[in-house]
Amino acid sequence: METVVIAGSGPAGLAAALYTARANLSPVVIEGLQPGGQLTTTTEVENYPGFTDALDGTDLVMRMRAQAERFGTRYIMDELTGADLTGDTLSVTLSGGEVIETRTLIIATGASARYLGLPSEQRLIGKGVSGCATCDGAFYRGQRVVVVGGGDTAMEDAIFLSRLVEHVTVVHRRDAFRASQIMGKRVLANEKIEVMWDSVVDEVLGEDGVEGVKLRNVKSDAITEVPATGLFVAIGHNPNTGVFGDQLTTDDQSFLVTTNTRTNIPGVFAAGDVQDPLYKQAVTAAGSGCMAALEVERYLAAVEG
Ligand code: NDP
Repeated sequence: METVVIAGSGPAGLAAALYTARANLSPVVIEGLQPGGQLTTTTEVENYPGFTDALDGTDLVMRMRAQAERFGTRYIMDELTGADLTGDTLSVTLSGGEVIETRTLIIATGASARYLGLPSEQRLIGKGVSGCATCDGAFYRGQRVVVVGGGDTAMEDAIFLSRLVEHVTVVHRRDAFRASQIMGKRVLANEKIEVMWDSVVDEVLGEDGVEGVKLRNVKSDAITEVPATGLFVAIGHNPNTGVFGDQLTTDDQSFLVTTNTRTNIPGVFAAGDVQDPLYKQAVTAAGSGCMAALEVERYLAAVEG
C-alpha cells in the first residue's frame, strides 16, 4: 500500500511531490500521457517568479521533476485508466492493468485543449487542425495559418507562429480580446498577424488537409473565406476528470470541486488546472500542489490520531 499517489506531472503534481517527499511520505507520481503537462507545450515562460529571464516551459518542469526526485519521489511512466475511490481503500489502475492501492491520492491531471466541435474540424484534426501551436507550428513554415481564440493562449500561439509562418489570421468571436493587455498589444503590433474580430469559424475547408476556413461575422452575418493550411484552435481547456467518472463532485464544466484542495472523498485531494476554472497559471498550479501536500499531511496525522 502506498501512502501518497499523485496523478499528473505538471507543476501541480510535481510541487505536491516535492512537499510530500520532503515530509518523508515517499510519493509515487503517475506521469500520464504527457509528462510535464501543458508547460511542455508552451514556448517561453516569463511569469514564473524567481526567473528574471524567460525560460523554456519544458526546462522549468524538468527542474521541478529533478527537485522532487532528489527528495525521494518515484515516477511511473504510465497513464491512469481507472480509479476506485468508493471502497475502504483507494486504488488506481494503470494502462497495463496494474492496480495501486494508496492511503491518499492527489489528482493533478490538468486540462486538455478544447476544440470547436465542427464536423469539418474533427475530420481534419492531425491533418492541418491542431490544438497545440508549439507542437505542430514547425510544419507550417512559410505558410498561412489561422488561430481561433481571444485569450492568452491564442495570443501566445499567434506570436509563436508569426516567427515561422508567412501570415497569421487570429479569429475572435468578440470585438475585444480576453487576453492580458500585454499579450493583446503584442499581437496587434505584429505585422504578420491580422485579427478578424466578431468572427466565428463556420467550416474548415479541405478534404484531406486544411485549405482554409469559412468565417462568419456574428454582427453582419457576412461570410469570408480565408485560405490557410493550418488551423490552431486555442479556445481554452477541459479538465481531465473522465477517468474518475461520477465518483467526485464536479462543477458544470467538469472541474473538480475542492475546499482547500480536499475533494468530497476523504483522502482524495486535487490540485492545478483540474480543479481551477479561474487562474490556470503554472505558479497557481504549483501553489495548489503545495497546499494539497500539506493537506495530505494533516489528513494522515488526523487518521493516525
Ligand atoms: P481562455 O478561457 O482565457 O480564453 C479562451 C478564448 O477562446 C476566449 O477568448 C473565448 O472567447 C474563446 N472561445 C471559447 N470558446 C469558444 C468557441 N466555442 N468558439 C470561439 N471562441 C471561443 O483560455 P486560454 O487557454 O487562452 O487561457 C487559459 C488561462 O491560461 C488564462 O487564465 C490565461 O491567462 C492563462 N494563460 C497565460 C499565459 C501567459 O501568461 N503567458 C499563456 C497562456 C494562457 P471569449 O473571450 O468571447 O470568451
